[in-house]
Amino acid sequence: MGKKLTKRKDDYSKWYNELVVGADLAENSGVRGCMVIKPYGFAIWEKMQAALDKMFKDTGHENAYFPLFIPKSYLSKEASHVEGFAKECAVVTHYRLKNADDGSGIIVDPDAKLEEELIVRPTSETIIWDTYRRWIQSYRDLPLLINQWANVVRWEMRTRLFLRTAEFLWQEGHTAHATKEEAIEEAEQMMNVYAEFAEKHMAMPVIRGLKTETERFAGAVETYCIEALMQDGKALQAGTSHFLGQNFAKAFDVKFANKEGKQEYVWATSWGVSTRLMGALIMSHSDDNGLVLPPKLAPIQVVIVPIYKGLEQLDAISEKVGPLVKELRAKGISVKYDDRDTQKPGFKFNEYELKGVPVRLAIGQRDLANGTYEVARRDTLQKEIVPMDKVVEKIEFLLEDIQKNIYQKALDFKASHITEVNSYDEFKTVLEEKGGFISAHWDGTPETENRIKEETKATIRCIPIDGKNEAGTCMVTGKTSNKRVLFAKAY
Ligand code: AMP
Repeated sequence: MGKKLTKRKDDYSKWYNELVVGADLAENSGVRGCMVIKPYGFAIWEKMQAALDKMFKDTGHENAYFPLFIPKSYLSKEASHVEGFAKECAVVTHYRLKNADDGSGIIVDPDAKLEEELIVRPTSETIIWDTYRRWIQSYRDLPLLINQWANVVRWEMRTRLFLRTAEFLWQEGHTAHATKEEAIEEAEQMMNVYAEFAEKHMAMPVIRGLKTETERFAGAVETYCIEALMQDGKALQAGTSHFLGQNFAKAFDVKFANKEGKQEYVWATSWGVSTRLMGALIMSHSDDNGLVLPPKLAPIQVVIVPIYKGLEQLDAISEKVGPLVKELRAKGISVKYDDRDTQKPGFKFNEYELKGVPVRLAIGQRDLANGTYEVARRDTLQKEIVPMDKVVEKIEFLLEDIQKNIYQKALDFKASHITEVNSYDEFKTVLEEKGGFISAHWDGTPETENRIKEETKATIRCIPIDGKNEAGTCMVTGKTSNKRVLFAKAY
């Protein structure tokens, strides 16, 4: 503590790393690309999990758990799926270690080679559809609406805390349906659930859209996504929901007897969000003083710091604070009374600012005499003196107001960072000078998409769901286009 963060405008990515570590959210581990999530960071993730889990259950899903290991032959069954994931798989080849004969230490026992290698799951479609073959026989078994909370491993080459790690935590929904229409409806529903979670809980506005063929999930027919905009003008894919068609049902031979008794392949979806959302949350709202958390996801919503000299003064303060803590807790507000004698108030103020606690109360001798608290809000850093009998009301107001205010701020930022362009030159200028989403016409071909990516590093983030049809010409090739798509540099 004490050391100031690098400023965002000086080095955004350094600021991000210092903040993640400084606010006690996570740190790099001794394992390449894998992070340690610390208690304060994990408490935020648990709040995200709880809210999402409720939303999944409210839409009819149940949780289950499937194995960490996937036999190589399973992964190979769906051709485009294995092709997409092959380059980033961790593979288990042996099941035992032994002492080297020459005494040089522990080695892999060559006699303990697995007959078939096991892949540490990068995603679980294959193991789950192998299971669904046993669970689904008739239309009565459908729909099957399952979610799993798990860790997965993708051997990423360039990793960053929360945003892209080799091992990450996530949830993956896997559903099975009797009809194509129902599966598409499910995939769209879950994109909307993610968008609602992002906006209502994370206070993070998102754009709902479809991925292009190039960016689509390996094995999907269509990938729906939510895309968010970070404060440095880069986009972040915050969640995906896939319509998988009958690809996995065909690969794993999952059929059901329809009402007429005829055998048909099952329709599928899968959808996931990960600990990347922690990175999205941090980068959406935080400032040069530290984290800014939406009250709905803050592990500590209110902190109370006593300012005193000697035990007698502390006792007098604690006597006032005790009933307030009780009253706030009874209202479901999480509050911490930090009466540690080992740190000075100034140190505590900095710490809670860095950790993004939405509301801070301070109480000293003058407040005690006047019957007041000093109340500070983290989002605007404004302070005011509030009479004790009005403080609960004030806190309730602030928790709602901060949630709303940081959402509005992010919404305004997003709105001012979507730029329409009509030429490739204009596109390049906006990309370099302003960043954000760039709305442009594209001819619909992977060739043009790849060329733009190679030349500018910008990718098509999505074809927005609510984008209107508009006749135009591709900014690169001049071919016709009937809708604008959103480009951005992305994490
Ligand atoms: P996918 O299965 O590729 O559609 O990804 C599902 C979710 O996991 C998406 O929301 C991604 O943003 C997220 N995700 C993908 N790769 C990583 C990674 N290496 N670290 C953290 N999150 C990831």
